[in-house]
Order: sequence, then C-alpha cells, then structure tokens
Amino acid sequence: MDFLELMERFPTEEHVIQYFIKVRYNNKPTCNHCSSEKVSRRTDKSKVFRCNDCQNDFSIFKDTMFEDTYTDLRKWMYAIHLFLNAKKGISGLQLKREIKVTYKTAWRMLHKIRAAMSNKGAFDSNFFPIVEIDETYIGGKPRKGAKIKAKRGRGTAKIPVIGVVCRKTKQVHAKVALPDKNGKKLTGKQLLSVLDEAVTRNAIIVTDEFTGYRALSKTRHVHLTIDHTKEYARGIRHTNNIESFWATLKRGLYGIYHAVSVKYLQNYVNEFCFRHNNKQNPEIFNQVLVQSIKS
Ligand SMILES: [Zn+2]
Repeated sequence: MDFLELMERFPTEEHVIQYFIKVRYNNKPTCNHCSSEKVSRRTDKSKVFRCNDCQNDFSIFKDTMFEDTYTDLRKWMYAIHLFLNAKKGISGLQLKREIKVTYKTAWRMLHKIRAAMSNKGAFDSNFFPIVEIDETYIGGKPRKGAKIKAKRGRGTAKIPVIGVVCRKTKQVHAKVALPDKNGKKLTGKQLLSVLDEAVTRNAIIVTDEFTGYRALSKTRHVHLTIDHTKEYARGIRHTNNIESFWATLKRGLYGIYHAVSVKYLQNYVNEFCFRHNNKQNPEIFNQVLVQSIKS
C-alpha cells in the first residue's frame, strides 16, 4: 500500500473506525462486558457503543493502541504506514514533522505501535531444519582513544542480544539478554532458552565458536560450528543470515534512534524482528492492528 492508496482507503476518520470494526469484530461489534451483540452506537460518529442487554457503554478501542487517543485516527494510519515501510524505523522527531503532532504524542504513538509489533503472533516458531544462532552487543561506541575492549564486549556496558534465524523461512527471533543475578553475561542457559522458544527439537544449529554454545551438547540438536577467526563460511556452516539481521538492527538503532535505553531495548529489537518477519506479508498493516488488540 502506498501513500495515495492509504488516503483513498481512509478519507475520513469514520473509514478508520469502520475498518477497525471489521478487523476486531468482523463487522459485528459485541459488548466488552457481556459479549452481547445487541449493541447500538451512542452517536453517529462515536467510537462508543451501548449494550442493550447490560446497559453498559464500551469503546471499540478499549485495550488497543487507540485507547485514550485524541489524535486523528488517519494520522495513526499514516504513522503505522510510515513505520512499517521505513526499513530502519522512524524517530519521534520525524513523525512529529510528518503528521504535525507534538513530540510527546509522536513518541507515544511510536511506542504503542512498537508494542503492538511485539505482541502474540509476532513470528512463526518452528524453526527447522537448519537454524543459525548468534549474539551481538548493543551499546555506545567506544570513546575515541579508548582501548579496544574484549571481542564480545565483556567488561563494557554493552547489552547482549541473542538472535535465532530459520534458514529456510528467514524468520528471526531475538531476545535481549541482561546479566543473570550473579552478574554473569550471556550464559549457555540464556542461549538455550532463546533457542527453545523458536526451534524444533533435533534441528541443526550453526554457531560460531563462542564457548556459551557448548551448552548445546546437552540437547538433541546437531551442533555445527564455524571458526570465524579462520573463515566466514564452510558449506552450510555459516551465520550469514543472522549477521545480516544484526547489521540492519544496528543501522536502525544507531542511525535513527541514536541511544536506546535498556528498558526499551527489547521493544526496539521486536520492532526490527516484526518488520523483518513480515517483509513478504501482504497483510502486514492488518497484522499490526490485530496484534494491538490485547486479549
Ligand atoms: Zn453488555
């Protein structure tokens, strides 16, 4: 969908409301309190309905990203459109300029869209047969003149992110790995737990030679390694797919978002996973709206 199609699809806010009623209720709004279908709209343009059974009012936007918003819904549609189509994401400042809202509003909108991207159904988990797993470190660049730190960022303030990719479907799953309660960074346990969330048992797992992956010997997976100090690839032994995802993630995080606090890092990682995993999905726009509905 391009910009013109978007405008033709949503010439008024009412079109957005109707579209949302279709997505959420399959065109038949039901009462949020008692599930009755006997409901009527409060006024012509209202997002509030009254239930004729229990007599309660409910908003069709309850428990969605549009709950509590006063911003024109067409601006929301445009924001989602921009967000999905910008490979590296967009910043609050950019969105503020594009849709003429305050920076605070733009920031909140992006935050909510990003949260929707993180919700259920974000990826299809049954990675098989060949899976790559790798880690990267997100954080500030070393200061000028500072000694280059250990290769895997130990002793630096950088935060590890663990990523898994299914080589067949190219689906990605990635998780921020905060130090465990003993302050230990990136344990075998953490690596396995991310793997377990996405991968079918008995898959072939390709990694580099990081010692954390020795934990794979306790699993039913076949473990292949590539020694990156010697070569990039040997046959199916490579981690090129996950590394190219890391490159996109880092370009986005450093280029558009500059600094991301640890608190929100997982949300940003989810944003990039969602965009990557739905690249070929013609219903990507719908998908965001569907995922914005908290169940
Ligand atoms: Zn009711």
